[in-house]
Amino acid sequence: MRNVAVIGSGTMGNGIAHVFAQHGFSVALIDINQPALDKGLATISKNLDRQVAKGTLSEADKTSTLGRLTTHTSVAAGVKNADLVVEAATENVELKLNIFRELDQHAPAGAILASNTSSISITKIAAVTKRPEQVIGMHFMNPVPVMKLVEVIRGYATSDEVTQRVMDLSRELGKTPTEVNDYPGFVANRILMPMINEAIYSLYEGVAGVEEIDTVMKLGMAHPMGPLQLADFIGLDVCLAILRVLHEGLGNQKYAPCPLLVNMVTAGRLGVKSGEGFYTWNHGTKDLVLAERFRK
Ligand code: NAD
Repeated sequence: MRNVAVIGSGTMGNGIAHVFAQHGFSVALIDINQPALDKGLATISKNLDRQVAKGTLSEADKTSTLGRLTTHTSVAAGVKNADLVVEAATENVELKLNIFRELDQHAPAGAILASNTSSISITKIAAVTKRPEQVIGMHFMNPVPVMKLVEVIRGYATSDEVTQRVMDLSRELGKTPTEVNDYPGFVANRILMPMINEAIYSLYEGVAGVEEIDTVMKLGMAHPMGPLQLADFIGLDVCLAILRVLHEGLGNQKYAPCPLLVNMVTAGRLGVKSGEGFYTWNHGTKDLVLAERFRK
């Protein structure tokens, strides 16, 4: 398995492409337009520079990693030689089902089709293809080059052989794969998203401010960052989409997204990617700066 196609060059897609290319795979990065691809490539280049500055990657390895990446705006052209496709497009069911219909048509018959979805049913995605035994969840964590976990999600029809190949491949990327079954939110987001939602409810109900909530979880629970800062990194739109899948899929009111989260997403305050969420992100320093509306 040497040829990989990655669908989507956003937060996750460019990280996934980066890691595969760094480990010697040829990577076709696919998005809907060239500016999105250029942004993804620029992020990969910046992150490789960071590795070079830290001394964990040589300048020559950076150049060869970039040389293994190609960009495409056509799925058909991008996946035609793929042994594995990892889909990391926007978290939206209809969008993903359409992408998998297209992948099934254009990817080679033996190719494994993986989704990096945070919460959408792998069984449902697999069901729109003619190869459900070759469809699997490969859930990387953000930021992909840094985080060790890959949650490997077996759909109802995923074969043992495909699961084993994806587990082995994840190890080849220096990651630790963990096999889980296909239920809403899998394990990672089944546990993480209710915590983030509860943090937003605590803010909404005036229990405490943004900094206080994050400080309690950082210093009190030894989390490397607070849940509101983490939500900004994940993307508030992504958090909302996952909560909706948990709410609908598990049918329990406890997963209902906080109205403040819904309002922020509606207003385009998506966190790091839009420049503002609970914090602001365009001030050019490493300091955490609260978004104006959350300042006292
Ligand atoms: P993002 O919004 O940063 O990027 C999504 C990209 O997909 C965009 O560049 C968009 O142009 C592209 N896209 C949309 N439709 C497309 C199509 N039809 N074909 C090709 N590209 C298309 O989103 P993200 O945060 O990178 O999330 C991507 C996936 O990864 C989602 O399924 C999400 O749930 C999952 N995920 C996200 C995180 C996180 O922390 N953000 C963590 C784990 C998994």
